Amino acid sequence: MCGIVAYIGSQSAFPIILKGLKRLEYRGYDSAGIALFDEHISCFKKKGRVSELEAWKEKVTESAQVGIGHTRWATHGEPSDANAHPHQSNSGRLTLVHNGIIENYASLKKELEQKGYHFKSLTDTEVLVNFIEEIQKNNNSTLEEAIRFALKRVIGAYVIIVMEEGYPDRLIAARKGSPLVIGIGDGEHFLASDASPIIEYTKKVIYVNDYELAIITRDEVSLKNLGNEPVTPYIQQLDLELAQIEKGGYDHFMLKEIFEQPDSLTDCLRGRLEPESGILTLAGVEQNLSAFAQAKRIVIIACGTSWHAGLVAEYMIETLCRIPVEVEYASEFRYRNPVIGPGDVIIAISQSGETADTLVAIEKAKEQGAFIFGVVNAVGSSIARTSHGGAYIHAGPEIGVASTKAFTGQL
Ligand code: GLU
Repeated sequence: MCGIVAYIGSQSAFPIILKGLKRLEYRGYDSAGIALFDEHISCFKKKGRVSELEAWKEKVTESAQVGIGHTRWATHGEPSDANAHPHQSNSGRLTLVHNGIIENYASLKKELEQKGYHFKSLTDTEVLVNFIEEIQKNNNSTLEEAIRFALKRVIGAYVIIVMEEGYPDRLIAARKGSPLVIGIGDGEHFLASDASPIIEYTKKVIYVNDYELAIITRDEVSLKNLGNEPVTPYIQQLDLELAQIEKGGYDHFMLKEIFEQPDSLTDCLRGRLEPESGILTLAGVEQNLSAFAQAKRIVIIACGTSWHAGLVAEYMIETLCRIPVEVEYASEFRYRNPVIGPGDVIIAISQSGETADTLVAIEKAKEQGAFIFGVVNAVGSSIARTSHGGAYIHAGPEIGVASTKAFTGQL
């Protein structure tokens, strides 16, 4: 997991991107970097926290009004200046930030090395940016076409945002398995891994879906699928206040979130708990009652703290419902060949709704005919959208990496 921010508009891009990266630091913080488009693309990246990038402040000009930024949580190559994003292609034409993992990067790297490409980092990301460059060069194609071709060959999860030398008025982004939100301003656009860097500027957003590619200029967002067919963007109004994601006087987000639990639980139960009768009704369960009533078995899939919530749920559901329950680590589930089929109810639990292993496990269970029920905090997230039914826990944004209020909400 990492954080990505980008800006295209008429304001100075650097402070907007820097501030956005600070808001996303909870997603990753081993190194960070920013690339700005002035007359040409220039790039600054450093091992360590996002604040290390402030050293670049004096050197950047107001006139750079387009840029991309990244705060990293390494998967390939240790945290270092060289492995930090953005990464540039060998010719310097393309500059890219990436959130996710390119699973087949080793074979692509070998192919590229045979063609004379060299690599400055140990990341899968640098392979991807050069792979796109190679396709573009080979086919004499536009960047958009090259990205499309490249992504068809890539196995893994990604959000990428790419800038191209000579095209200062355009960003290209694409996603599969990692989140991307586009904020729509007046003659400007903001891109980020979640809405927190965006809400102070606009509440109009588009959540980009898997296998979609977005071409973003100052005035327009055009969405396409990887088959080059246009997709109509669905513009949503964000129901989130900036104060909700700031520290509110506490020293740490985690502390703030611990103390928010009376409120977050009230929000979670609001409209669901009938105090007189003590009956709790979840619309997502009501709408899918037959799936639950006919369940032969319930399998809970989750990771980390959500998995612990699942262990408690196993105990409660078996005691109260007399339905067998299994709790599985999503990362184990996805890599074996589990016996799953119609009649199984999968409860997938995730605070962010973006947990990569849980998402893949869901897809696998879905293919095998199971009914998927998501228990998710982040509204509009990937797990929420891919589940057949579900219940939001309405705990509000959880920034602390150790889950607190989301855990009690899940329970
Ligand atoms: N796989 C990439 C890397 O190791 C991106 C990791 C991330 O999402 O932060 O650099």
